[in-house]
Amino acid sequence: MRPDLFAGVFRLGVRQKIVLVLIAVLALALGVSGWLALEGQKRDILRETQRQGEDLTRFVSQALSFSVVAYDYHTIDLLLNELAKSQDIGYVKVTSRKGNVMAEAGAPADADHHWILFQADILLDGAKVGELTLGLDNRRIIRQWEEAGLSLLGKEALIIVIITVGVFLALSYIVVRPLMIISRSLDEGVDIRGKILRDIPLDTGDEFGRLARQYNDIRSQLNQANEQLQTKVDLAGEKLRETNLQLLARTKELEQLTVTDPLTGLYNRRHFERLTVSELAISLRQREPSSVLMIDIDHFKRVNDTYGHDVGDKVLRDVAGILTEVFRKSDAICRVGGEEFIALCYGAYKRDALAIGEKIRKSIEAHAFPGVSAAVVTVSIGIASYSGESGEITADDLLSQVDKALYHSKQLGRNRVSHFADIGSGAGAGQAT
Ligand code: GH3
Ligand code: MG
Ligand code: MG
Repeated sequence: MRPDLFAGVFRLGVRQKIVLVLIAVLALALGVSGWLALEGQKRDILRETQRQGEDLTRFVSQALSFSVVAYDYHTIDLLLNELAKSQDIGYVKVTSRKGNVMAEAGAPADADHHWILFQADILLDGAKVGELTLGLDNRRIIRQWEEAGLSLLGKEALIIVIITVGVFLALSYIVVRPLMIISRSLDEGVDIRGKILRDIPLDTGDEFGRLARQYNDIRSQLNQANEQLQTKVDLAGEKLRETNLQLLARTKELEQLTVTDPLTGLYNRRHFERLTVSELAISLRQREPSSVLMIDIDHFKRVNDTYGHDVGDKVLRDVAGILTEVFRKSDAICRVGGEEFIALCYGAYKRDALAIGEKIRKSIEAHAFPGVSAAVVTVSIGIASYSGESGEITADDLLSQVDKALYHSKQLGRNRVSHFADIGSGAGAGQAT
């Protein structure tokens, strides 16, 4: 058998496989038993033919005895011709005691040897007077036998068909139907929470019914266990989510703490160096206009010395408050030194930055710091800007420019706003009047 044919048989359904096996087994069994029956029948027919032939030969030989002794050829011929007309007798011959042929009818043998030959002595009073040869035609016997074989074949085919159809229907109902029900139920599978969806709806008393009941029991146990497990998983998940949220909030707090100056709540120097400068660098690379303002409290040492360190701290906090009010939320304000602040204003041109600087300077000058005489606390401001149009500039360049601008404001007597672009051009720094 070819391998692909073999594989094809394996892929067949249960019903087809059983039908195939059934046909093969029945054909083999009925074939063998039929062949044996036919062989027996053949033997019986041959034996019967033999007996009939012998009886006939003996009978005819007795009937001929007188005619042979009397050399009555006429009677012998008559009898032999009459015999040869008989359906089953193909050949008859009478010979004398000496072996001479006295009479003959029919053909001694046909090409296919269809005669069965019988011989008998012709006796009169116990003495042999001649010999009779009789050829029985066995064609009718063979035909009968063949017809019997064909009829047997037909009956066997009918039996095979009836048994196959019967077994097929029975198996379909007893085996294949429950298998289909089981298979369809299992096909439903499980839902997203791992619950096995369907029972097997089969309650027969046979092995399939038992299998279905066992499956259904296991299913309900598994679903219960799964339910409990899911509840635990859900609870654990909920707890984990809560813990995660707390952790996230705590992390944010901590992150905030690491970048925040504890006294003023502004960004600290660490944040300025790690993030603000690199953000400025990116913005410059993308040629976006931006301005940097450096704000330094004037003679702050003196404030401390005059009013005490605590008052100094309060002044720092108030200044930080004013800065937070004036700048936009998107601007980054950092306390980079004791009484020194840097603010980055994204999108601000020189003109905007100068206005902001002046607003800050005036606000601080006008602010009533608790415990400090009026107009004692002032600030000097330096500004540097990038318009986005001039050539490339780095963050370090801009920071160095702003430093120079602040120094310029200090040099001119403090409480001033200077823009780096104006230093040396004679425009000078703005000062409150
Ligand atoms: P200038 O106008 O040239 O800037 O003079 P200045 O006195 O402000 O500058 P200087 O750098 O000489 O002094 C800065 C002072 O700031 C020194 C220090 O006492 C004070 N200072 C620094 N950090 C703090 C702080 O956290 N709290 C208080 N109260 N004072 C501080
Ligand atoms: Mg100062
Ligand atoms: Mg200073």
